[in-house]
Amino acid sequence: MTSASYPRIGSLRFLPANTYTADPALRSLLRAVLAPRALAWAEPQLEAMGRLAAVELCRLGEEAERQPAWLRVVDPWGERVDEVVCSEAWRQVGAVATRAGLAALPYESEASRLAGPQVRVVQAALCYLFQPQTATYLCPVAMTDAAARVLAEFGPDSLRREVVPHLVSRDPASAWTAGQWMTERQGGSDVGANAVEARRESEGWRLWGRKYFCSNLGGEVALALARPEGAAPGTEGLGLFLIPRLLPGGARNHYRIDRLKDKLGTRAMATGEVTLEGAEAIVVGQLERGFAQMTPMLNITRVHNAVAAAATLRRCLQLARGYAAWRTAFGCRLDQLPLQRQVLLELAVRAEACLLLAMRMAELLGVLEAGRASADQVALFRLGTSLAKLFTAKEAVAGTSEALECFGGAGYMEDTGIARLLRDAQVLPIWEGTTNVLALDALRVAARPEVAEAYLAELDRLGSPRSQMAEQLLAEVAGAEPGIAARWGRRVASGLARAWISGLLAAASHRGPREAAVAELWESDCAPTRAADDRFELVVDGAV
Ligand SMILES: Cc1cc2nc3c(=O)[nH]c(=O)nc-3n(C[C@H](O)[C@H](O)[C@H](O)COP(=O)(O)OP(=O)(O)OC[C@H]3O[C@@H](n4cnc5c(N)ncnc54)[C@H](O)[C@@H]3O)c2cc1C
Repeated sequence: MTSASYPRIGSLRFLPANTYTADPALRSLLRAVLAPRALAWAEPQLEAMGRLAAVELCRLGEEAERQPAWLRVVDPWGERVDEVVCSEAWRQVGAVATRAGLAALPYESEASRLAGPQVRVVQAALCYLFQPQTATYLCPVAMTDAAARVLAEFGPDSLRREVVPHLVSRDPASAWTAGQWMTERQGGSDVGANAVEARRESEGWRLWGRKYFCSNLGGEVALALARPEGAAPGTEGLGLFLIPRLLPGGARNHYRIDRLKDKLGTRAMATGEVTLEGAEAIVVGQLERGFAQMTPMLNITRVHNAVAAAATLRRCLQLARGYAAWRTAFGCRLDQLPLQRQVLLELAVRAEACLLLAMRMAELLGVLEAGRASADQVALFRLGTSLAKLFTAKEAVAGTSEALECFGGAGYMEDTGIARLLRDAQVLPIWEGTTNVLALDALRVAARPEVAEAYLAELDRLGSPRSQMAEQLLAEVAGAEPGIAARWGRRVASGLARAWISGLLAAASHRGPREAAVAELWESDCAPTRAADDRFELVVDGAV
């Protein structure tokens, strides 16, 4: 079936035919940021993904949601199998992600040759187009990308040879996906409290204990933190291990899936609880540096989280905009009602703000991975992962709630697919570090003079109208007793993120009237004006 012959059911009818060509914010950004050769290479891929995203991907995502993964504990003959059974639609969504190289791109020499460090921007743009309404498949993509990075960086060689090629394969028949098993029952934020134990036996390492949140549970491998017998308490004592689902002979590894979780959202993706019963595992990198070696994984998944948040907001805007052109109330279309136009305008500004911040992080990640980052860029990226993840995730929840209301009662209904956007967005501020945990991290990191200087230099370079406010915020907590400073955590982190966005928008405002209007609206907190033109067509539709 071609995309044109798919019926545009549910909310699909309100989407543009191509979510890339209909996205003025993404196109403006990519044209400004990407080198001409990288843009020429990326555009056909983006257009193809934008076309798929508008129809087939939504349909597959919808189908996958109707048949969530389930747990087969024993096979028909009573043999324990602990198998996560996924729907065909879920596999097809995965095949699209694999063929498009969503996890693979940063590891491909041809992509690096054509785009250099900007390969991360191209990858982020493709993920952004792919993500909305695809049953949270970007979560497995993010963890697979991140696992490939950790293994490529820290090894050992056997895993670089035998596992990484599967993680970065573009062939659905040979591609693997990865999980990230950190959280235990006693704590997700408090990783230092991890109790899963690693014991060295004659033939290698075995892990014992419980992991409490394991997403993409059907994946072929997982990276897990565990404490070697006798190691120090806290995060310092944790080792990093790769756990294969199947052992070399094809038997399943020694862990039990206790259950799949019954979740508010992300329901098509399996998240389970696992008891490790002497699971065979391979140590990754240096045993005593497990937590530190997990850092690249968290950096990458947090950037993906920010991309997912920005993508969710754009999808909300596109859907709500489409609905407003179709639905009438009080004798006119919703998009003729001044207050509804104002609501959509604000949603557009919010979506663009998050896009710019997420893409700046992707840009920095690429430079960092290419080994070309200055000390300032390293520091900025370190602070930015927390700021971007926490800010965009909260915006995504607020924005999806607003978009749902834009559909009135229909938005609250499951069959429109709008309600699921809100349920799925709610996970974004929780996993990969909650808002509080990231805000405290940002406070700690920003207290380092070289980080604060790098951040303020970025604001200056961009011409942020809020650099003074950012300086004041930093001064507010500088030298404060930690118990007092912590109270300011959210305020400071979100203020720093906003000031950074102000800069990114100010720098973009020179590109044209649409970008200038977005920057101005952001600075005024989208205050309504008395001008006859509310700039709706310019900002929301990109009609210049
Ligand atoms: C759908 C879903 C899928 C997930 N998948 C995975 C996965 O694949 N792998 C994995 O490892 N984990 C996964 N998680 C777990 C997730 O990362 C944790 O839930 C998260 O890190 C929070 O940990 P917690 O649930 O233990 O909450 P807690 O750490 O108990 O936090 C509870 C509350 O206390 C706050 N808090 C905690 N510490 C502080 C502090 N120092 N100061 C102020 N406030 C604080 C938090 O912000 C939060 O509001 C998943 C979670 C969900 C919901």
